[in-house]
Amino acid sequence: MKRSLYIGIILLLFFPIESQEGRKSLEPKVNGKTMEYTIINKRNVAVILIDFPDTPLEIKDKFPSISEAQEYFIDGLVKDYFTTISYNKFKLTGKVFGYYTMPDSLSEERQNNDYVINITENYNLQFDGYSVEDFDTVAFIIFHHEYEQGGLSASRYANVTMNGKRYENQNVIYLGALFPGADDREDTYYRAAKYQIRFGNNNGDFEEHGHPCGLKYNQAIFIHEFIHQIQGKENIPHANSCTNNGKYDFEKPDTEQPESFIDLEYGNGFDIMGGGRIALSLNAGYRYLCGWLDEENSYNFEQPGSYSVTIYPLNRKKQKIAAEIRTRHVKKTEENYSGYFIELRKPDRWDASLANPHLFNNTRGLLVYKTDGYKTMLLDMSPSKNFIDNNNKHYVDYRNMSLKEGMEYENSDIKIWNVQENYDGSYVMDIEIKNNNIFKFWR
Ligand SMILES: [Zn+2]
Repeated sequence: MKRSLYIGIILLLFFPIESQEGRKSLEPKVNGKTMEYTIINKRNVAVILIDFPDTPLEIKDKFPSISEAQEYFIDGLVKDYFTTISYNKFKLTGKVFGYYTMPDSLSEERQNNDYVINITENYNLQFDGYSVEDFDTVAFIIFHHEYEQGGLSASRYANVTMNGKRYENQNVIYLGALFPGADDREDTYYRAAKYQIRFGNNNGDFEEHGHPCGLKYNQAIFIHEFIHQIQGKENIPHANSCTNNGKYDFEKPDTEQPESFIDLEYGNGFDIMGGGRIALSLNAGYRYLCGWLDEENSYNFEQPGSYSVTIYPLNRKKQKIAAEIRTRHVKKTEENYSGYFIELRKPDRWDASLANPHLFNNTRGLLVYKTDGYKTMLLDMSPSKNFIDNNNKHYVDYRNMSLKEGMEYENSDIKIWNVQENYDGSYVMDIEIKNNNIFKFWR
């Protein structure tokens, strides 16, 4: 299967990896069924701390030590995160090196990614006892007192020079750790990753809180960037949403809202790949791309018919946590089969923010995603009108996106109904895959 690489570099609003010769092929293969992705079970990352010659000493003193950064980027919550979302299938390891002081500082003109890519490409990093081959990914953490580098992920794209040797087409992550000096801005390193929720049209109808799981801002960005490039072949995409201003996704597209809302990049705020604006778990569709869904923890339905299904919350181990639906009988429009994923969230660890009363309804039913076979889009199962502020700007209402008891969802591909909560927190539902031959295009 061939799918063009996402442009080697993905620039991030908020917050990708690897492949090397001799590694197991990550190509999904058709085995008569759907695509299967090789289990990604380990990655070793070199985290390179970068600083600049003109950063005042009193600010440099606030930068983390090597051992603190080791705990922050690898051994602590970040490792826990990957262990959880992979159901213990994936192990993150790595080593922090630094600080490496760049030859010149950042400036207004230079605080762009081209400059950082350029200097890190040519700066001769000295790694005693290590070489680039020891690592799947190189992550540059750009510590600066004035300018914040955006997160950036380059899957098999960037070059680095280490111990005098130049390596090309590496998996590289860049992200900025900003420690502002005198002004009131919080640093990005120790600041909490935050969740936000709008609950009305007025400017004040908005809450923002630190994610209760304790992840820091730079940790969340690091995870996001790391997942982008974790396959090593093609970047795992952003988690999008498809909302239609109070109507279902399959109805005529609303003309009042921005056209982008039908496939809104970063729109799935319930996902680290959507920026983690609401919750921080990784959706089932992207766990699938990492090979972490299998027949033990998920259902796979491809044949027309009706199925009764029970699923448990997404982060539970040793339970069925998702239903994957592939509509193979519909003519495929790309290399991959389009379909759906159904999952259930609870206000547990990475999703503890969902205990917020404005968000809790999202845990009272099923979250449903459409997929083109690769990218996922969160659908609104409880369609509600957009919020519109004084400047006529539209905002998706994320308070209630789930398919709850007594509700049903039906389009030309599938029907989901008879949704019921069980005593143990699982949900049962009926799923019908329709027997049609409609020639469909992914929009
Ligand atoms: Zn991204």
